[in-house]
Amino acid sequence: MARYVGPQCRLCRREGEKLFLKGIRCDTVKCAITKRKYPPGQFTWGRGKLSKFGIQFREKQKTKRFYGILERQFRNYYRKAERQKGNTGENLLTMLERRLDNVLCLVSFAASRKSARQLIRHGHITVNNKKVDIASYIVKIGDIIKPKNTEANLNIVKANIELLKGRNIPAWIEFRADVPEVVVTQLPTREDISVPVQEHLIVELCSK
Ligand code: SF4
Repeated sequence: MARYVGPQCRLCRREGEKLFLKGIRCDTVKCAITKRKYPPGQFTWGRGKLSKFGIQFREKQKTKRFYGILERQFRNYYRKAERQKGNTGENLLTMLERRLDNVLCLVSFAASRKSARQLIRHGHITVNNKKVDIASYIVKIGDIIKPKNTEANLNIVKANIELLKGRNIPAWIEFRADVPEVVVTQLPTREDISVPVQEHLIVELCSK
């Protein structure tokens, strides 16, 4: 009998790619997608050839799952990306990449975007010395992100940093592990973003 691997691992298996939703487990041999490459469920749907719509839809779903956002939030981001100058797909991804929960995950303050959201919602994170409890806060150049200055907070964040050291920190943020704090030095470009999606397929789907 197949071992239950949890809802997040099921999402990765459904997409057929590692989406790194379970923190440290994703980098170990326990990763469910390393063990089973076929989709979850009793029936083997998804093994056949996908239609053009199916491929575009999967890319959109993958993006939503990677960043942990719902359809309505995704639509709002897409509309904002459309209104900005430049490539809509890149605008969309760079905006999602600048979400506060994503930044905390990138610098290992939290092991996953889900646990980063929990840290933020519980008021443990400050931006420019003010508490920010909105995970979707979009960071800007010059923002300084820190855990709130209490012993318990610092201990949680420092333990995560120690546990997850070795993660690649993108060039658009400066991470000061000794404080610990993060400074946004520039805005991310497409090259800085590791999400495994083809954004032009999302634009083709959403612009219909
Ligand atoms: Fe599960 Fe992480 Fe592996 Fe995805 S990448 S299957 S969330 S362990």
